Amino acid sequence: MIDLRSDTVTQPSDAMWEAMRNAELGDAVLGDDPTVLALEAKAAALLGKEAGLLAPSGTQANLIGIMAHCGRGDEYIVGQAAHTYRLEQGGAAVLGSVQPQPIENESDGTLDLDRVAAAVKPDDPHFAHTELLCLENTMNGKIIGLDYLADARSLAAEHGLSTHLDGARLFNAAVGLGVEARVIADHFESVSICLSKGLGTPIGSVLVGSAELIARGTRHRKILGGGMRQAGIIAAAGIHALDHHVDRLADDHANAKELAARLAVIDGVTVLDEVQTNMVFIEVEPGHASPIEEFMATRKIKLLGRYGRPLRLVTHLDITREDIETTEAAFEEWSRSR
Ligand SMILES: *Cc1c(COP(=O)(O)O)cnc(C)c1O
Repeated sequence: MIDLRSDTVTQPSDAMWEAMRNAELGDAVLGDDPTVLALEAKAAALLGKEAGLLAPSGTQANLIGIMAHCGRGDEYIVGQAAHTYRLEQGGAAVLGSVQPQPIENESDGTLDLDRVAAAVKPDDPHFAHTELLCLENTMNGKIIGLDYLADARSLAAEHGLSTHLDGARLFNAAVGLGVEARVIADHFESVSICLSKGLGTPIGSVLVGSAELIARGTRHRKILGGGMRQAGIIAAAGIHALDHHVDRLADDHANAKELAARLAVIDGVTVLDEVQTNMVFIEVEPGHASPIEEFMATRKIKLLGRYGRPLRLVTHLDITREDIETTEAAFEEWSRSR
């Protein structure tokens, strides 16, 4: 199977399984799983923060982060298309009692900073207290650049806002920009990263920030059901991924660019955006009897999306250059058969 649905679908490599099998374990809720502590320290160091916290999912790591910054009735500013707003069931509001103030994302994935400034509420009993600015990088595969991040950080400081980055794919952004991850993370007080996306582990995310923020976050993680016991098994996969799977994200980016270039010349396929990291967005013309996903499934290629709407194709650890060629051939066949 060539699974292009997401970079979440990777299977652990033999070396990763070996690291998991050999992990020294304790009880992470009691605070003494050495492998979890090592992962949390490693992620914190890589991102230039004091402390880290392992969570089962990116959704939970973001929610813990938002709850660690905001109290009941506070507000956070977030992109209309952001994962924490759109794709996490509104957990900040539902479980954290934190009101979102969404702002339309610009086409490059950023938030217009004038609109952010205008959304910050005055200190008045009519309004929620605006506490936090939350950004995402990469945003739908797009890299939010360092100049913008510096401006966003200044604006947040000017308005007394704290800052959180949903960095599920932060390492894709860092590799794409050719900088250390901490150069991006420096612009935020807290950052969540996913280990289970391009980094290729089966499970896990890490939230990093100050020791004080992570101490608050540890309480939130417990009430959200994220306290895991012998979690060193998954932390070992995370350590392995941070050691071995960061630089190779460049291969995923090269494969995505190659895939986009090959699909762009196929009749009936439109590549929508310039590829910056590991995601290719395309539109396919109608005219075939069945949805393209069904056609591709018969060629052992998995796609996520609906006929006539943008399809997202994601490259990852388990996608080779040969898979790109096979996918191109299948699209050509689909194009001819329309
Ligand atoms: C996947 C993702 C998350 C959430 O991660 P889960 O582990 O699926 O809960 C958060 N933000 C972004 C941008 C993501 O892509």
